[in-house]
Amino acid sequence: MDADLPVAGGESRLVSEADVIVVGAGPGGSTAAFHLARHGLRVELLEKTEFPREKVCGDGLTPRAVKQLIKMGIDTQADGWVANKGLRVVGGGMRLELDWPDLASFPNYGLTRTRMDFDQILAEAAVAAGATLRQNVNVTDPVLDGSGRVIGVRAIGPDKEPQEFRAPIVVAADGVSARFPLAMGLAKRDDRPIGVAVRRYYQSPERHNDDYLESWLELRSREGGDKLLPGYGWIFGMGDGRVNVGLGVLNSSTAFGKTNYRTMLTDWLSTTPPEWGMNDEANADGPIMGAALPMGFNRMPHYTRGVLLVGDSGGMVNPFNGEGIAYAMESAEMAAAAIVQALARPAGPARERALEQYGIELRAKFGGYYRLGGWFVKMIGNPQIMRVATKHGLPHPTLMRFVLKLLANLTDPRDGDSMDWIINTMTKVAPAVR
Ligand SMILES: Cc1cc2nc3c(=O)[nH]c(=O)nc-3n(C[C@H](O)[C@H](O)[C@H](O)COP(=O)(O)OP(=O)(O)OC[C@H]3O[C@@H](n4cnc5c(N)ncnc54)[C@H](O)[C@@H]3O)c2cc1C
Repeated sequence: MDADLPVAGGESRLVSEADVIVVGAGPGGSTAAFHLARHGLRVELLEKTEFPREKVCGDGLTPRAVKQLIKMGIDTQADGWVANKGLRVVGGGMRLELDWPDLASFPNYGLTRTRMDFDQILAEAAVAAGATLRQNVNVTDPVLDGSGRVIGVRAIGPDKEPQEFRAPIVVAADGVSARFPLAMGLAKRDDRPIGVAVRRYYQSPERHNDDYLESWLELRSREGGDKLLPGYGWIFGMGDGRVNVGLGVLNSSTAFGKTNYRTMLTDWLSTTPPEWGMNDEANADGPIMGAALPMGFNRMPHYTRGVLLVGDSGGMVNPFNGEGIAYAMESAEMAAAAIVQALARPAGPARERALEQYGIELRAKFGGYYRLGGWFVKMIGNPQIMRVATKHGLPHPTLMRFVLKLLANLTDPRDGDSMDWIINTMTKVAPAVR
């Protein structure tokens, strides 16, 4: 401990004083720490686990996420990154390959990479930029001043002893558990879409080197004579002999919360061709694991009393496609930009205005799109609508190219094509979620 640090309250040991504390070193936290440190700020990045560690995910990255990786100087051509050209949609007895759109604003390729090392690569980039990463540090509470504003965090350190960190600003990037915002009184909104997804790795020499991300709009069961299961599935090739296979169910489905998702996954996989290797337990690599997908800004406000919420902590998964990594990284970059401006001003109203700008910009960027996403989730909760849409939509490649742009949120804001114009207008006209 530095000699001139203030004394921590209670029994905690004061470990450090920084400009910004980032809680959680997932994609959101590490990206925030990277951009903050790059601007010369003293950043403490606190992570309760130790790398390398698993995170339940589909491991799929769209061009939106790739753009963020490029901004961090991460070499996505290096070994371990598996590039894809687009999305293969399977449904209504059809398989349609849709390439990622050619845009000025985004690269035209996606990637896969297991979260086992993806998160570590991002955390290492943050450290290389100058952030201090502390692993096995479990943040338990905010430290507040008399006005209820954050001045630091309490944690349980690697030695299981209480620790304290001080900073005038905290980024909550603690994922779907959102313990930190909860401690600040920010509860989850139940009027927003939410999903549950499960996934498992399988050895699949046949499918591991796929150059498309594969998305299944209809899942069938072997039981009950080809019964339609609720939910949507994916098969993503990991390029290392394995595939990441999973499915998600949205809360607009009557099956939400009433289904055994693990059984549903093996039920669906039992209908896949034997040569893919996914209907044989012997090829499974690890257990089926699941987690919630907090969507459409299901925790707001995104800024309050010195705390900025990024990624899953602020409920930022895209309701259209279940993608969360890109939004965690993008919100993190936006939070860092607001903090850099804020810390260049004296504490008080001027600094506060800069911090509040984060929530305002986030709403302006994604609020209308997430409103549309909320309507979309409600609509596809009706299996009848989904069946009709699949049957009549898939045979029309132009329509499906439009759908891909909408679902993956990939348009050019200016000088794009007519599809971009329609999507941009729709998101502008839709009232932003609040
Ligand atoms: C089954 C499944 C499949 C998915 N597939 C995809 C996909 O293919 N593509 C995609 O883009 N998204 C996918 N997602 C969503 C994606 O995983 C998340 O949106 C993304 O991980 C959010 O990043 P984050 O940084 O906000 O949170 P997280 O990745 O959850 O990171 C939070 C970090 O904070 C740490 N932490 C938590 N609490 C504390 C604490 N108290 N103290 C210190 N550290 C703490 C955690 O250990 C973790 O490292 C999927 C999700 C699920 C469940």
